[in-house]
Amino acid sequence: MPTTDGSSPAAASVLAVLGVGVVAADSPVLRADDAAATRGDGCFEGCRLRRGPDGANAVDKLDAHLARMTRSADALAIPFDERAWRRLIAEAAAAWNSPDEAAVKLLLSRGTPTSGPTGFVLITPLSAESRRLRATGLKVITLARGLESGAFADAPWLLGGVKTLSYAVNMAAFREAERRGADDVVFLSSDGLVLEAPTASVVWSVGRTLFTTPTGATGILGGTTQQLLFERAATAGWTTAERLVTLDELQAADVIWLVSSVRGPVDVVELDGKPRTRHPDLDSEIRRLCGF
Ligand code: PLP
Repeated sequence: MPTTDGSSPAAASVLAVLGVGVVAADSPVLRADDAAATRGDGCFEGCRLRRGPDGANAVDKLDAHLARMTRSADALAIPFDERAWRRLIAEAAAAWNSPDEAAVKLLLSRGTPTSGPTGFVLITPLSAESRRLRATGLKVITLARGLESGAFADAPWLLGGVKTLSYAVNMAAFREAERRGADDVVFLSSDGLVLEAPTASVVWSVGRTLFTTPTGATGILGGTTQQLLFERAATAGWTTAERLVTLDELQAADVIWLVSSVRGPVDVVELDGKPRTRHPDLDSEIRRLCGF
């Protein structure tokens, strides 16, 4: 029976372990001394699963996610067997027994000295919060990240652009947003420039130009959704560009979106307490280009 928001009742999660296959979703998969638990030493991907027209479940942009996970694993010097992961993801996706879209987490840990790397795929229903925010848009606050915009240049040990498991700061930023009555955050550098959101890329439009913030020396994570959006937007007649901008320049944009794989692009309806006009036509064009 559908729920009040039109979705099916929450489907059971699916868990698949590297080297093992699909297991009961509540199975223990990490030892107490696993580096993921003791150090946050590993990397992950967050992806979206959908049922295709052929009736098979498929992960959106799987190649882009695996390419980024390969780069993350390389940066962390953790072995990553892409073919084994593709098999595991296919097995887990086939076990997802619901027509509803879902969130897929791929997690690779350094593991333990005796067991070697640990990896698993976890598929869970899309959260009610993601569904709600897609409809309402986002109230966003800016928070200082405390680093200068070029802090990651020539410092590969800082793991800029690497999707590590160390997201405690990002989660703390969400709690600060909630404490201030907001839904999400845009981080600013100590030199006052717009960086990224804790789990999303920042994209904005001025006329028919779409902008995002540059990776590299900023340490910003290159978003797979932002990249797909810019490729498709370019063929749909948009100009695309990367810019480091101040908060005032961002406030002057026509529309601002926080863009990520599972929640999709969501427009910002308030930034640091200033309400923003919604542009439903532009917003639906951007959502469609992102596959939402
Ligand atoms: N930036 C950060 C810091 C993220 O954690 C994420 C995703 O979780 C993104 C951007 C968006 O990346 P993607 O579009 O690949 O989901």
